[in-house]
Formats: sequence, C-alpha cells, structure tokens
Amino acid sequence: MNILILGSGGREHSIAWAVLQNPKCDRLIVAPGNAGIAQIAECADIDIFDGDAVAGFATENAVDLVIIGPEAPLAAGVADACRAAGLKVFGPSAAAARLESSKSFTKAICDAAHAPTARYAHFSELESARAYLAKQPMPIVIKADGLAAGKGVVVATERDMAVSALEHMFGGEFGAAGSEVVIEEFMEGEEASYFVLVDGETVLPIGTAQDHKRVGDGDTGPNTGGMGAYSPAPILDETVARKALDEIIRPTMREMAKRGTPYSGVLYAGLMIRNGEPRLVEYNVRFGDPECQVLMMRLGGQALDLIQACAEGRLDSVEAQWAEDHALTVVMAAKGYPGSYEKGSEIRGLDALEENSSEMVFHAGTAARNGAVTANGGRVLNVTARGETLAQAREAAYRMVDAIDWPEGFCRRDIGWRALPQKL
Ligand code: ATP
Repeated sequence: MNILILGSGGREHSIAWAVLQNPKCDRLIVAPGNAGIAQIAECADIDIFDGDAVAGFATENAVDLVIIGPEAPLAAGVADACRAAGLKVFGPSAAAARLESSKSFTKAICDAAHAPTARYAHFSELESARAYLAKQPMPIVIKADGLAAGKGVVVATERDMAVSALEHMFGGEFGAAGSEVVIEEFMEGEEASYFVLVDGETVLPIGTAQDHKRVGDGDTGPNTGGMGAYSPAPILDETVARKALDEIIRPTMREMAKRGTPYSGVLYAGLMIRNGEPRLVEYNVRFGDPECQVLMMRLGGQALDLIQACAEGRLDSVEAQWAEDHALTVVMAAKGYPGSYEKGSEIRGLDALEENSSEMVFHAGTAARNGAVTANGGRVLNVTARGETLAQAREAAYRMVDAIDWPEGFCRRDIGWRALPQKL
C-alpha cells in the first residue's frame, strides 16, 4: 500500500520507521519530512495545512492511507478534506480535534461525561477572571484556551504570578488562543501519558509513557517540548489504566459520538495520578513527541496494522501485541534551547552507529548539507533504544548518545529517573 505521512519531526521519523518494517508498505512519502526521514522515505514539499493540497497530492499519488502527525493540520481540517476526497485517514476531524485545540471545550465534555479532572472556571474577559482568582487558593493553573505550542499554561504558586498570566493572555500574548482563559485547580500527583486508538467508540490501548518536560537534570529549569521519554510508565499500572479507560477515556469518547463528532485517530490522555486515582490533565489529538518514538520502537511493524484498522473503523478486530520490553529516548538539543540557539553546527558520528530494530536515532530538527548532517532546530535528535529492562534500554541509548560527536549539543543525563532513580 502507498502511505503518506504529514509532519517533519522525530515523531514522524519514528512513525515512518515503524511503517517501513511492515511488508504491506510499498511506497512511503513524508511531507515535508526532514534530513533523517529523507534517508528512509521520499519527501514531498506540500503545504500540510492546506487540506485541498494534501488531498489532491494524495489522490494523484494513489495514496491508500494518510497519517497526520501534528495537531495544527488536524485543527485546520486537513483530515476532513482528505476524507471528503474519499481517502483513508488516520487523525480526527477538526470538530473532534477541539479536544486539544480548546481547553474549555474539553472541560465541558469532561463535565458531561463525569470524567475526573481539575475543577475549573472559564472566562472571556479579564475583570471577571481576576475577581474569581481572588477567591481561589494557591497554587493555581492559568491556561490560554487555544493552541499555544505548550506555552499557554502557567502553574502559578503566587497570586501575583497568576494575575500577571491573566493580564498577558487577555493582553494578546497568544493572539486568539488567549482570548478565552481557563482557570483550573492545581492537581498534585505524578503525570503519565496513556495512548489509545479510537475509531468512533471502540477504544484500543496501545501503550503508556512518561516524558521529561524540564530542560535540566532533576526536572529543573524551564519547560521544553520534551527532553526524553520512556515506555511503559510504571505508575500507569493495570488498575490505574483500567480506571483511566472506564472513568475518563471511554465516557468522553461516548460523549463525542453522542454530540455527532465521533473521534477517530490516536488519543493521548495526559493524566495526573495520585493514590492510584487518575484525573485528566489534558487530551492531545496526536502522538506525543518524543513519546511516539518509544511507542513506535516497541510496536515496530504492527503499528501500521493498528493505524490502518483505526482509519478503516475496524479496531474491534485487532489487538496490540506487546513484548515485555521497554524503550527509552534521549533528546539531544542545541545548546541554549529552549531559549535562543544556533543552527547549522555539524553532527558527526551518526554513520558509525549501528541502527536496527532496537536502536535508532530519530531526527527531529536536522538538515543535510554537502553530505553532512547539521542541526536545524532546538530539539535535534531522539536517540532511542529498546531493552528487556528499562535499565538496558537506558544504557543502550546513552551509549549511542556518547558516540555522537556534537559539541554544540546537550542532553539530560537522567531520562527515566522516576523508574530508575540512580543516574548513569
Ligand atoms: P503541552 O502541549 O506542552 O502538553 P498544553 O499547553 O497542552 O501543554 P497542559 O498539558 O494542559 O498544556 O499543561 C501543561 C503542563 O502543566 C502539564 O503537563 C502539567 O504539568 C501542568 N498542569 C496543567 N494543568 C494542571 C493542573 N490542573 N494541575 C497541576 N498541573 C497542571
């Protein structure tokens, strides 16, 4: 079959890598792709936010399945345009993608579905938000309603900080995304991510993971897009996972179907877990990046069978086969990230690494220049390994990290610390 993947990050590199392990895949095109993806698939330069352009390209190239990686094209209705053109698509409609693109929408769905989540209130102007805030205990969480690339959430420990966050959001810091604001109760606990495939109402769990948002070892420094991840997440054990499915995910999926906007695609539930009780922090309507990389490494070629079954609405006929293994990915970033950083430095040593079904370097922000691989973003490489134990996966991943010669880059040395407290 011919497959088109939309996206250009480490997430899409790992999906492309997994899809290619399935003999069903005859031709793989990734738009726009990156330097790492170009080593394993055809890359096409199309505007992935333009639904008609994507649908037209897919039709001309006899594409049998379109896999949409990032959230922005989903929110822009690219899945809808492809479905309208008769294509099979992995990814939700724009209406269902509101589970990520509007926080107040998600809170309202959770209310209707009686899904456990933080108490909240929703405002469209500063004065009433400020008045509500004055009566709330600290800490408190202030969220811009719309998509803000992970930057629209402030966990405020002091009242002044909360007021200033409100002023910035209503003052236009995030444009239209901040014209409405959700103020949420602060939830204590440990965060973990639960990934399921959904094709309307059938929900198929495909794995758990934990990421590392802060830039520095010991979870210090500013937030990033994610500095590493591992799967499975021990805190999301069978009992907690069952509760998350029965009390949160299935009821919200039923509510979406009831409203005439059934969800189809991967759903990523960010959970806060305390004393064995999960509560919803957020939904994302796509795979996490870098969590996808560890899930793909564990799923391998069967990822395509599952994604295809999801797109064809027959998830009830498939099952995810899990090996008892673990995967871990270390993000290598350009020095200075998440602040300002240089682009263009050369990365050496990648060719000497032996890449196979258990060890891979996925490219997140790279470019090819005169035969060399250069850094072309903040997060640049996702060094990923699988092992029988998490300790083995971590050792293998850091062995690869240490063989990469890139003085302008850095990484955290403690990925996996919640499950493996001792540093390497
Ligand atoms: P991202 O895209 O980076 O995941 P986002 O902008 O969609 O972020 P959320 O996931 O809702 O925003 O929040 C970001 C982070 O803020 C969460 O991962 C969590 O650590 C923290 N957070 C959000 N809501 C709460 C809450 N109610 N209580 C405690 N922490 C919270």
